[in-house]
Amino acid sequence: MDEIYLNGKFTTKSNAQISIMDRGFLFGDGVYELIPVFNKKIFLLDKHLNRLKTSLNLIGMKTIDGLEKVIEKLISNNTKRNFFIYLHVTRGEQTHRNHVYPQSIEPTVLIMCEEYPSYNQSQINNGFSACIKEDFRWLKSNIKSISLLGNVLLKNYAVNNNFYETLLIRNNKLTEGSASNVFIVKDKVIYTPKLSNELLPGVTRDLLIDLLNNQDMEVIESDITVDELLLSDEIWCSSSTNAVVPIVKVDDTVIGTGSTGDISTLAHKITKDFIDKY
Ligand code: PLP
Repeated sequence: MDEIYLNGKFTTKSNAQISIMDRGFLFGDGVYELIPVFNKKIFLLDKHLNRLKTSLNLIGMKTIDGLEKVIEKLISNNTKRNFFIYLHVTRGEQTHRNHVYPQSIEPTVLIMCEEYPSYNQSQINNGFSACIKEDFRWLKSNIKSISLLGNVLLKNYAVNNNFYETLLIRNNKLTEGSASNVFIVKDKVIYTPKLSNELLPGVTRDLLIDLLNNQDMEVIESDITVDELLLSDEIWCSSSTNAVVPIVKVDDTVIGTGSTGDISTLAHKITKDFIDKY
């Protein structure tokens, strides 16, 4: 778990060194991906690498080649079977701290393995609670930027107040969670906020829309107001780290029956089945 890749070399977390003049360190100038590894197999790598390419492109950086081989090696050298690949690309190191970046600058590429806690079936059956906060982040949340201060503050607010997640609202509309996408169900119809600059195009969100469509269930991508969120029958959050997490209470409002609903249970099951067969 300790082996990492940094700028062309394999080393360990404790031996790796980054310059203090790296723009990732000084400006949060970079992008990242988090990719699950299930039973030693990397999950939906193409979708993650495509999103990385888009994020790089949106901040004016070139595509990075040869990442697949590095990822393969880190997975095969790892003694664990289930973990995550964390891939972090910054614009690179500069001699002076300056907002303006030179055109000829070599990116810093870090790839490492990380573990995150996962939830057991009884926690999923019971459901989780969430809170609502104003989405005060910047207006380019479609970029998977390493500048995560807004998300960090919002997620910590949730955890410090015993919530799983903070659901974010801008102009009375749900955007996403601080580290997840959000789905709601009303009268057996599934809705999720439509993609825009205000939310991350989640790989799990995308997968779930396909899997639910395969079950003949339509997912409507549209605006969701705060009232629609609070009056919904079911809510769940989706992310690579936690797949599908049912939300049964939002602040003081009980959602639906107050326990995990049938469609959330189905969404969780079809995602788990897909992962098991992958
Ligand atoms: N939205 C935000 C802000 C996130 O940080 C994440 C995941 O980290 C997601 C959505 C879910 O994206 P994915 O399903 O690709 O993990």
